[in-house]
Amino acid sequence: MFTSFLIKYAEIGVKGKNRYLFEDALVRQIRHALKHCDGEFKVHKNQGRIYVDALSEFDFDEVVGQLGCVFGISGICPVTAVEDRGFEQLGRDVIAYMERVYGAKLGAGEGMTFKVAARRARKDYPVHSGEINAQLGGILLDAFPGLQVDVHEPDIYLQVEVREKIYLYSMVIPGPGGMPVGTGGKGMLLLSGGIDSPVAGYMIAKRGVKIDAVYFHAPPYTSERARQKVIDLAGLVARYTGPVWLHIINFTDIQLAIYDKCPHDELTIIMRRYMMRIAEQIAKDTECLGLITGESIGQVASQTMHSLAATNEVCTLPVYRPLIGMDKQEIVEIAERIGTFETSILPYEDCCTIFVAKHPVTKPNVKVIKKHEHNLDEVIEELFRTALETKELVVVEGKRQ
Ligand code: ATP
Ligand code: MG
Repeated sequence: MFTSFLIKYAEIGVKGKNRYLFEDALVRQIRHALKHCDGEFKVHKNQGRIYVDALSEFDFDEVVGQLGCVFGISGICPVTAVEDRGFEQLGRDVIAYMERVYGAKLGAGEGMTFKVAARRARKDYPVHSGEINAQLGGILLDAFPGLQVDVHEPDIYLQVEVREKIYLYSMVIPGPGGMPVGTGGKGMLLLSGGIDSPVAGYMIAKRGVKIDAVYFHAPPYTSERARQKVIDLAGLVARYTGPVWLHIINFTDIQLAIYDKCPHDELTIIMRRYMMRIAEQIAKDTECLGLITGESIGQVASQTMHSLAATNEVCTLPVYRPLIGMDKQEIVEIAERIGTFETSILPYEDCCTIFVAKHPVTKPNVKVIKKHEHNLDEVIEELFRTALETKELVVVEGKRQ
């Protein structure tokens, strides 16, 4: 019964001269999202609006699900397009639309209210907008005795848009908001197998940023299943961001060297400093403008203000930490909503948890840390280079849940 979708977008509407860039990016992202759906679609801009026309049969829930992952969309309106076969026929079409969409709800007892709002995109249509509103309003009142007009807060806001065809729509399904991915540069997400980092990637991507990712594993201390879990998480994030280039770094030898040569209560901080250094190198090589992590103040010893300062000290690129002020429960709620939670809580070990000390420092002193890092001087350059040279790249496409 629905043949098209009108795509509403909020924030990108106000970008002045750049508006078309944002609209084009949105069209591109929509096309990409629909590639994964059965059916054929035409996505096009028309007089400041974006439409998705179905050119074949399609699965409504599947298409709405995919559109619901495209940042920049604030609302999705399912449209029934009818041929222009004169005003009388339009009246019949509108009654049929209301019956199909609201059916039993229109029965007397419910007391539903409505308003008709017409818009002529084609000025040669013989009936003026005000007249369309009045006439269709009358026709609906006659057809459904339980229905009443409410021009201020109607239950049903029926919009009638006169184009080549006549578009009828009244429902708005909320979209994810934000800005289309690709309009805001590119960032490098440090993606672990946990709950936080996929959420962090989602949040930064929502602001229009394209996401690449880096994962540090430590075979044989971490398993193939742990690695696959991170690839799966990248796939879930990619539903929203488009394909994610996931760089996988073998971190074992660096971790072993740190374990061998540095005080154990500083292992995590020193390890995290090397993660940031490597991530930054890859970020620079791939034109990323910043690093993204899932850190949140006080969550664990390595995320106190002191620890974050020590970790941050090695970075020259900005580090974006969108979860910094959030409680775990708030992060979990987002993870559940975006569909990463179930995968994140699979129990496979992470490389951080294997070499952790029983009592890690919570107030590391950068000077002391730097001094202990000198213990690695003889080996680290070589290890750093090898880690980068043996980097594995997996391009991860969006994965359906
Ligand atoms: P998460 O829930 O995201 O796994 P975490 O609670 O395990 O985080 P930490 O281990 O302190 O917390 O990691 C903090 C951040 O560092 C993570 O959110 C992630 O961005 C990054 N990180 C940690 N481990 C790795 C890893 N093995 N590979 C890539 N990034 C990592
Ligand atoms: Mg965490």
